[in-house]
Amino acid sequence: MAYDKSARPNRKGRKKVCAFCVEKVDKIDYKDTAKLRRYTSERAKILPRRVTGTCAYHQRELTTAIKRARQIALMPYTND
Ligand SMILES: [Zn+2]
Repeated sequence: MAYDKSARPNRKGRKKVCAFCVEKVDKIDYKDTAKLRRYTSERAKILPRRVTGTCAYHQRELTTAIKRARQIALMPYTND
């Protein structure tokens, strides 16, 4: 039952970098649902930072953009 964290391999040592920082995105476009969709799960949930590697600033921009897109029905709230 006990899970030994030290036994976990080090994900090939590849450091994930924020995709928005790479593209030097300042403001995330909430109308760009094709891009936003990459940061949501199959059930339309926003993926956490640790999954996507998005930085704190862009993650915040991203959630705002997704929530805005949801409000004007560009993106689903749930996808069951
Ligand atoms: Zn970033």
